[in-house]
Amino acid sequence: MNDQIARISDIDVAHHLHSYTDARRHENEGPLQISRAEGIYVFDPEGRRYIEGMAGLWSVAVGFSEARLLRAAAEQMAVLPYYHTFTGRTNAAVAKLAEKLISIAPVPMSKVLFTNSGSEANDTAIKLVWYRANALGMPKKKKVISRLKAYHGVTALSASLTGLPNNHLSFDLPFDCILHTLTPHYRAGSNETEEAFVQRCAAELEALILREGPETIGAFIGEPVMGAGGVIVPPTGYWKAMQDVLARHDILLIADEVICGFGRTGSMFGRETYDIRPDIMTVSKQLSSSYQPIAAVLVNDRVYQPIADESHRIGVFGHGYTASGHPVAAAVALENLRIIEADRLVENVQALAPLFGACLDELATRPGVFESRSVGLIGALEFEPRDGQAQGVIGTQFSRALLESGLICRSIGDAIALCPPMIITEDQIKVIFDTFAQCLDTFGQ
Ligand code: PMP
Repeated sequence: MNDQIARISDIDVAHHLHSYTDARRHENEGPLQISRAEGIYVFDPEGRRYIEGMAGLWSVAVGFSEARLLRAAAEQMAVLPYYHTFTGRTNAAVAKLAEKLISIAPVPMSKVLFTNSGSEANDTAIKLVWYRANALGMPKKKKVISRLKAYHGVTALSASLTGLPNNHLSFDLPFDCILHTLTPHYRAGSNETEEAFVQRCAAELEALILREGPETIGAFIGEPVMGAGGVIVPPTGYWKAMQDVLARHDILLIADEVICGFGRTGSMFGRETYDIRPDIMTVSKQLSSSYQPIAAVLVNDRVYQPIADESHRIGVFGHGYTASGHPVAAAVALENLRIIEADRLVENVQALAPLFGACLDELATRPGVFESRSVGLIGALEFEPRDGQAQGVIGTQFSRALLESGLICRSIGDAIALCPPMIITEDQIKVIFDTFAQCLDTFGQ
């Protein structure tokens, strides 16, 4: 390690508190430095190349160092580097992005509200549900149902929606108004049919609604495919059965498309892959390929109209961020969406999904591997727990072995998630799975 690399490592350990990182371990082991990136690859300062098998955090759709995005950012920076969107202010980039999102929305949507992160988008979605409930004179209809293992973010409200112990236990969350129902994880080979499992999920949802009182439940939120909870692909018929229950009790549906949006599942939105009909959609990540922090909340008329009436009556919707609809982020997002369409990246996901799924399925037949799950270009491989080992140990060890072999994946418990940039080629997918297979061969020996 040369002096400059060592210095960065030292100052990072001295000053930087990292997200989702064991702080004491970081003090001892130091950071992994990434100094540049290109296409599906990232490089450390010594020039070592890694395949970014997670597209960063499920987000860099168009790959790294895309010159067209750099140009879009620079051009916007030169003209209007910042302006806000409070009190009716707008700019060309944000207005055009709102128009674009409404035009590609897979269900009729009325308006778009911008935030900086997926967490803020989900937080905002819930505040819209509350504001609407008050506007309609139904002040009790404010509880929100989410699912165990869901990931909806980390602000206090979105962390409450998240259904993972790590995001709750040390923070005294979730808030009382957030409830959780079953994870849609059907395990093939269990003594329940897929259909019976789907019916059980719907029945549990309905029982929860009836127990709480339908007049108290404002919305249900779900990721079309759960990401950070372990890439959980819902069984056939799941979304229809759940939506039938919600419709019976006049409950709004929020689709969290933060990972699925813009092609990840092989359709522009996860909604289309699963025929979900949301009233509210949240998007982020692949919206700008994470080149700029930006997220959006799309709402239909059921949500927008009462809010417009209410703000006329008792006061404006008192919510928004300094950088909501930031012009540079909006310009980058617009260009990113243009690239996704012009370069036919959703079609690329569709074309490569069968190979991706077949490679995962093949690895799932290896000893020690329990299950594979995938749709489009998002997938996971789950290891069988080993006798005497705590949950998550194999996952962590295996993802470290992959990293040493030049492949960045993410361990989630004993599952290893894969979510490569949507620009990936057939040959690059084969390299990923060859690396995986070689690591499996040596792992456990
Ligand atoms: N929703 C989903 C489905 C996510 O995967 C994430 C982030 N992984 C979020 C929301 C939160 O997004 P952010 O990290 O931008 O706050």
